[in-house]
Amino acid sequence: MTESPVRIRPEIAALPAYKQGKQAGAEAFKLSSNENPYPPLPSVVAAVQNAIAFNRYPDASSPRLRARLAERFGVSDDAVHIAAGSVSILFQLAQATSGPGDEILFSWRSFEAYPGLAVIAGATAVTVPNAAAGGHDLDAMAAAITDRTRMVIVCSPNNPTGPVVTQERFDAFLTRVPSDLLVVLDEAYVEFATDPDAVDGASVLAAGHPNVVVLRTFSKAYGLAGLRVGYAVGDPAILSAARSVGIPLSVTAAGEEAALASLDAEDELLERVRDIALRRDALVERLRAAGWDVPNAQGNFVWLPAGERTIDVAAAFDEAGLIVRAFPGSGVRISIGEHESIDPIVAVAASVAPSVAL
Ligand SMILES: *Cc1c(COP(=O)(O)O)cnc(C)c1O
Repeated sequence: MTESPVRIRPEIAALPAYKQGKQAGAEAFKLSSNENPYPPLPSVVAAVQNAIAFNRYPDASSPRLRARLAERFGVSDDAVHIAAGSVSILFQLAQATSGPGDEILFSWRSFEAYPGLAVIAGATAVTVPNAAAGGHDLDAMAAAITDRTRMVIVCSPNNPTGPVVTQERFDAFLTRVPSDLLVVLDEAYVEFATDPDAVDGASVLAAGHPNVVVLRTFSKAYGLAGLRVGYAVGDPAILSAARSVGIPLSVTAAGEEAALASLDAEDELLERVRDIALRRDALVERLRAAGWDVPNAQGNFVWLPAGERTIDVAAAFDEAGLIVRAFPGSGVRISIGEHESIDPIVAVAASVAPSVAL
């Protein structure tokens, strides 16, 4: 990269540029961004086509969607905050809670966006290694809280490794968290979780934990990644602070309409989610049979712990027309996509199994 002609904050200049999952060529399956492989429902397309007053700004707080979600969670409208993707809300919460000298705590490896949150807020990222099975080590996370911690992120199911945090462990964790410390429960993949013991943000909120904010998104299960709609549910004062640092009018009318239409068509969409979860479980079984130690996959993706072989393993998938996400030195994440991609995934995975010399 060329040097900037103006003075950039050094920690920002040092940030790696955002790396999107590669776009797939015509013949390839794009399995690198945890997107939903199903095309939009006709009713959702129609809702977007009706939202064509593009010359007007959208209604700032997405009030109809907000009311609809508030009703579902049994909270007041001001306990819901809509934004252009739940990633935006992560950034808003980091900026609203944390500054220089403050700490943002999360498990690692987890969502790639988390380390950057701390940098952009001028705060310090504190990471706790994942448990051996790929989930969070909540005991170690609780022990890592200091009086400078301002935000703790718990990701369940964890992207990119897959396991959930259980309700029991999450509840126990909360008893060890100071009541004035923000806990963000990032549930971007919650709809895909089939583990009956998984934490459920709605139950956590119903039990009354005002320091917990639950994040969900329409990008994954509802298949609206391209329209950018995510939301937070939690204490109105926390969400108001998040809104204060957010860029106004980022959620488009088309996005709001699509989200509302998706809630109307929820039965049909969740049927697809169930199909993806079944496809995932069958794939995990076959990958394990091929010799891969795949962690419990509860999102719409599976994790191959390829370690130092990651680049080579990802290249083998790439060559077979399967675009996957490589985390060099760590592993490969493969999204659950089209049914037709499954046999090729298994074939490549077997050809580069840990027992095979590359
Ligand atoms: C995909 C994802 C999100 C949300 O993405 P948006 O499209 O911004 O709503 C949030 N958290 C995690 C862990 C994700 O993987």
